[in-house]
Parts: sequence; C-alpha cells; structure tokens
Amino acid sequence: MAKLAINGGEKVRSEVFPPYIVIGKEEQDAVAEVFQSHIYSRFIGAWHEDFYGGPQVRQLEEEWAEHFGVKHAVSVNSATSGLYCAAGAAGIGPGDEVIVSPYTMSASAVAPLIFNAVPVFADVERDYFCIDADSVEARITDRTKAIIAVDIMGQSYDADRINAIAKKHNLTVIEDCAQAPGAKFRKKWAGTLADIGVYSLNYHKHIHTGEGSLVVTDDDELAERIRLIRNHAESVVAAKRTANLINMVGFNMRMTEIESAMAREQLKKLDGLVAQRLENIAYLSEKLAQVPCLKPAAVRPNATHVYYQHVLTFNAEVAGVHRDKFVEAVKAELPPIKLRETEGIKIGCGYVKPIYLQPMFQQRIAYGSKGCPWSCGFYKGSISYDKGICPVVEDLHFNTLINHELMRPGMTQKDLDDTAAAFVKVWDNRGELK
Ligand SMILES: *Cc1c(COP(=O)(O)O)cnc(C)c1O
Repeated sequence: MAKLAINGGEKVRSEVFPPYIVIGKEEQDAVAEVFQSHIYSRFIGAWHEDFYGGPQVRQLEEEWAEHFGVKHAVSVNSATSGLYCAAGAAGIGPGDEVIVSPYTMSASAVAPLIFNAVPVFADVERDYFCIDADSVEARITDRTKAIIAVDIMGQSYDADRINAIAKKHNLTVIEDCAQAPGAKFRKKWAGTLADIGVYSLNYHKHIHTGEGSLVVTDDDELAERIRLIRNHAESVVAAKRTANLINMVGFNMRMTEIESAMAREQLKKLDGLVAQRLENIAYLSEKLAQVPCLKPAAVRPNATHVYYQHVLTFNAEVAGVHRDKFVEAVKAELPPIKLRETEGIKIGCGYVKPIYLQPMFQQRIAYGSKGCPWSCGFYKGSISYDKGICPVVEDLHFNTLINHELMRPGMTQKDLDDTAAAFVKVWDNRGELK
C-alpha cells in the first residue's frame, strides 16, 4: 500500500496553516489617529511646504532614517516605485546599460527600462543567490552606468566586491533590500550598503502596510532627486530652481498618511519578527538535517540572514529523483495556508524563472512596437538574453532550489513539526517516486 499522499496515502496534515498576520492593535490605533486628524495625505505636486508630505509621512521618514542610520529616507507607494525613483535619480538614460540580477522580483530588473536603459543580466552566486561579482565584472562595458544588486531571500549582496567594482568603474549601486530588512553585512544594515537602497512594505514582506516602500541614501542630491521623481518633478523644478533636469519627469508615487502611520508601528516590530524567523528556521533546520538530499541556504561570512523565505538546495543524485517530483510529493502531504486555501500549499521549485527568459526580453518589446530601448539609436551595444547566459541561475531555477514560507512568525511548533515531517516522509518513501 502506498504511503505517500501523492500516491493515495494519508497526508501528514489536513488542518490549514496559519496566515502571516503582523498588523495588530498598534497599527489600528495609529490609523484611528489619522482618521481623527482628517489628514489622509498632504502632498502637493508643486514647490510648496507640502511638497514633502504630511506629518505621518515626515515622521516615518525621520524614524526610518534614524533606525537604519542613514541620512535620508524617502517614502514611496511601492518598492517598484522606489526602484524607478532610484534609477531615475542615478541619471540612467537611453544608451546606458545597467547590470541587474536575473533572480529577483521583476521590478528590480525592469527599473532601468523605465528610463530607456538596457538591463544586462549577470549570473548569481551558487551559495547565496545574489548577483555574482565576477559575472558583474565580465559584463561591464563603457555603456554601463549602474548595478542593481538584490539582497535576495534575506541576506545582503556581496557589498565588499560589488561596491569595489562600482567604484573602479564609476558606477552607481542601487540595493534592492525588499527581502532583507534587518539583515546586516559587516555590522551595517542591508539596504544601506549602496548609493541608494530600497525597502518594501508590500504585504508579502517581513513588515508591511499593504503596499509601501522607503528609499534610503546618504547623498543629499540623490535624495532630493528621488523626492522630485516621487512627486511631479516637472512642475516643481522651475520654482525650486533645480539645475539638473535629467529624468525630472515626475510621477505620483506618494505614500498616504494611513500607510505611513502603519509603517511607523511596523518598524517597531521588525526586530522581534526577525528574531522569530530565526528561531523557526533553526528549529526546522535541525529537523530537516535528517533529509540528506536537502541543504540549507548558506549565510555569507560577516553577514546575518533574515530569511524572507526558507531556501534549501536539492541534491538529485542523493535523492534519486528530480527536485520537481520530490517537491510535488511534499506538497501533496500538506494543506494550504489560511486565506490562500484555493491555491494549495506553496513550496516553490526554483523561485522565479530567470527574468531574461520572460517574453518582454525574449521578444524585446518594451516601449512601443519598435524595439526600444534595444533598437534605440542611442544604444550601441548588443546584448544576449539567450538561454544559457547565466548557467548558475538556470540550474538553481530548473533543478536545485526549493523555497517556502512555512517558517514565518505565527507558525506554532506543531506547524513546524508537520512541515518537517512532510519532507522527512517523502525522503523515507522516495522509492515510491521512482
Ligand atoms: C517585493 C519585491 C519588490 C517589489 O516590491 P513592491 O513593494 O511590491 O513593489 C522588489 N524587489 C524584490 C526583491 C522584492 O521581493
């Protein structure tokens, strides 16, 4: 008789897992105060004292900068917007290349496109999944203007080497820290390691406000350019007497007072939430040590990890089956997460598809129908998005990486036990998968 649920056996567990809930009374009370004040936003898209937003926005920005030890924090409505502001502030434009990671949420690779620059994909580190310094160096040309380094899955990029390469070639580094708030590298906060850093307050992240983001920098000029792009630069620059008009096409990427009030409370919870993640990961890792085909993600030397997700790598030779088959069997053992019942349990095979394999890059259609920015007259390079350009990321995605979120705060010991039990059971009965 089959034991594995995928073959008709009994599941390890049927009761749904708890959802990730980090918004509570503190945020409710803070939002209630905003309602009392009747100020939901105070931004004005003109050179006026309200150009910088209302009281909650300003308080949040001050507190965020203080917490992370940076000079400026600028709130925006999403990290996607934050990355666009960062790319614009850095002065990226037509003809330029920006080196990006193919292993990230799409916005970090698309940001250069918004300003008509060409994303160039570098491969990632096999151990830490962040953009690889050797690969970055190999892709630098005289058109390269910036590097967007992502702190993927909860730990920082190799700030030593990437920053040194950037310095040597006079490039701006933008750090996408959406997945690693609270992580450290050489005792410095992730998000503050580059020229500009971007945090996310999207509801998938460690702390959130539904949607939202903060962009940080120590550079006064970059900070002001970010604030301009956030808020209708084009109608502000004349009165503000802004000399540098490059990329001063403004958007409305402003955060509301409600989100800002929530964010101030969320920031206070960050350390505690990170500590819980670390406890859950330690517990789960100990249990999963019994499964020889799984290896926990490595932590970079001199760095800390805050585990946006639990990442494992899979050894198919040891298991005797392909990762996808193994993961499919694990998923069959477990119920979904509450509020996500219709989706089944999510245990990822490989995180995201390497971004260059997406249709926009394969077909080179971004702006209009003429192939811009790749065919733009200012662009003198030629760039490949062929399968094979980043072998490490392709192997991680198609063969080896496993990612899941069954370790977020709110999971009980039993929830963690059941999660581990599903992996152990599939390992013990892997013969059934052949
Ligand atoms: C979530 C995420 C983003 C985008 O964040 P939003 O706030 O949803 O726009 C960007 N980069 C990475 C690495 C992310 O995980």
